[in-house]
Amino acid sequence: MSVWIKLAKAGAISCLAMVAVGTSAQQETRAPVPADRQGQIDASRSHTPNGGRPEIRTADDMKRLAGYTAPGAQAYASLAAEASAGMWPVTLYYRCKNTPGGTAIHAKAPQPIEVFDGVYSIGDDANNIWAIDTADGIILIDTLSSEADARGTIIANMVRMGLDPKRIRYILITHNHLDHFGGAAYLKSLSNARIGMAQADWEAQVTRGNLPLKGPNDFFLTDGQIITLGDRSVTVVLTPGHTPGTASLLFPVTDKGKPYMASLFGGQGSPNDLQSLMTFRQSLNHFADYTDRMQADVVLSNHTVGDDGLSRVAKLALRRDGEPNPYVVGREGVVRYDALWRACLSADIDQITRTTK
Ligand SMILES: [Zn+2]
Repeated sequence: MSVWIKLAKAGAISCLAMVAVGTSAQQETRAPVPADRQGQIDASRSHTPNGGRPEIRTADDMKRLAGYTAPGAQAYASLAAEASAGMWPVTLYYRCKNTPGGTAIHAKAPQPIEVFDGVYSIGDDANNIWAIDTADGIILIDTLSSEADARGTIIANMVRMGLDPKRIRYILITHNHLDHFGGAAYLKSLSNARIGMAQADWEAQVTRGNLPLKGPNDFFLTDGQIITLGDRSVTVVLTPGHTPGTASLLFPVTDKGKPYMASLFGGQGSPNDLQSLMTFRQSLNHFADYTDRMQADVVLSNHTVGDDGLSRVAKLALRRDGEPNPYVVGREGVVRYDALWRACLSADIDQITRTTK
């Protein structure tokens, strides 16, 4: 059994990290994170869009900031830093530090913005919410924690972007943590949209909030499924690990008409137990089959630490004609992202195995 710890702000539950509060004798789990390692802010970075979230750019940073003590875990963590090669500094800190509580950072909410043609980022400082506009309506990815969040952030930002919330046709929920599903029932009541979530997550018991009831038009997300609306399509890849029914997504995008392939992994924080960590690592392999085959060259995330979204939104807002889109990381960026994540999970697996021996 585990609980979500209160992280980013009062009343909000982040799903970036979790701590074990009760463990079975058979299950290998992490030790709780000491309070002084939760949410350390790098004061030298407090002026940045990330609000002082620490960064790992090099293997030295990793040694200084990560909490791994097992030799194998340290080796994996060093590999992760090499794989990142400075391309994913904020993400790397959160992936690979053996400190599952370290996210208590206040940052200024990002402005809503059109990231690709008809693809909007409309979330808050912790959670990215994505709206994909089509001629036949809108696909929304995730819903924040509550009706209040949906009204105050999602709908307010849609209106600022000229998007009509009544045009939402699909609400895709990446996984069954409150900060992703909490606003779904309200948004559905406004728009009569169809909700999609993986069966394993929809039928699970959740510790926070109430999952939306599955209505006759709602549906389970399944592996390899393609959801189409207007001239858009979204490919679903089931990637258990963060939760049993985490769903990841790929979809083509264009930037001023130029085509790219976006990938969005549906779960972020490392789980606490060995089996889930190993499942998670297998899911990264499965997802890589898709990102390679579909030649993904854009990384989006459902959390701002997952795609360094706060920095990218700030950069995008200042983008001038002819400058590159900061969300386009190329094949190299996608490959490095996948490699660092796999190495970080391997570090977690090694650490937990070593610790519990
Ligand atoms: Zn979560």
